Amino acid sequence: MPNDDYRGRLAPSPTGLLHLGHAATFWTAYQRAKRHGGTLLFRNEDLDPQRSKQEYVDAMIEDLAWLGIEWTPPIVVQSERIALYRAAFERLVATGLAYACTCSRKDLAQMMQAPHEDTDDEPVYSGRCRPAPGSTPQSLQPGVNYRLRVPDGESISFPDGNLGTQTFVAGRDFGDFLIWRKDGLPSYQLACVVDDADMRITEVVRGADLLKSTARQILLQRALDLPTPAYFHMQLLRDEQGVRLAKRHDALAIRTLRQQGLTPAEVLRMIPSNIGS
Ligand code: GLU
Repeated sequence: MPNDDYRGRLAPSPTGLLHLGHAATFWTAYQRAKRHGGTLLFRNEDLDPQRSKQEYVDAMIEDLAWLGIEWTPPIVVQSERIALYRAAFERLVATGLAYACTCSRKDLAQMMQAPHEDTDDEPVYSGRCRPAPGSTPQSLQPGVNYRLRVPDGESISFPDGNLGTQTFVAGRDFGDFLIWRKDGLPSYQLACVVDDADMRITEVVRGADLLKSTARQILLQRALDLPTPAYFHMQLLRDEQGVRLAKRHDALAIRTLRQQGLTPAEVLRMIPSNIGS
């Protein structure tokens, strides 16, 4: 019987075919859960209505199973859990930590520099809609974005099981970030924190492109009084030209390799085998 002391998760987004970088992350998550005699859950992160597609849901489940990864059913589907995220969002607004942001995409684009190519990260928000400190909590408004106020200048540190201690400074490395979208959906950050707590996840294995998101999520965990799991971030895989595999959905999709006749063992030989201790 798997134990509950180690609970990991696979959290793919059905916005494209999974590639070798995903294989490395999810294989490591599987191996670490196995090594600890733990439980591995599967969460379908399908909150992006424009980009999520059922064919990618089917493909990601099939490709991960083909690789030999096993998880404990049922699959958790984020689009079916909006009420849970909504409750957390309303708590954040009630405490005054979240505020409405009416900046348009165009305003944001003008205020910000281009995000750094390598981290898929968003630039620091200027604070234009941020209420003065000590303002009374806002009432809920439909149809607007909401951000979490971050404690400017505070260092957020966490021990990473793979990369060692990581430290980011709120207000410098990342700013007030989106928690609720004007289309009535939670942001990735909020949904992830609520789900990791609700699913009682003890360790999160994910790509190093999400390191700053981990720092943001730790702030959300504090704000919502939720536990912080352990983290294990995977170095990003690059091809011979140094291009991140995530940017090359074309050739290195697990599915393409499979269609070319490679076996799961051959695909797994293409990814680093270090799964930490
Ligand atoms: N769904 C995210 C992705 O596929 C991963 C999120 C996470 O591990 O927290 O990049």
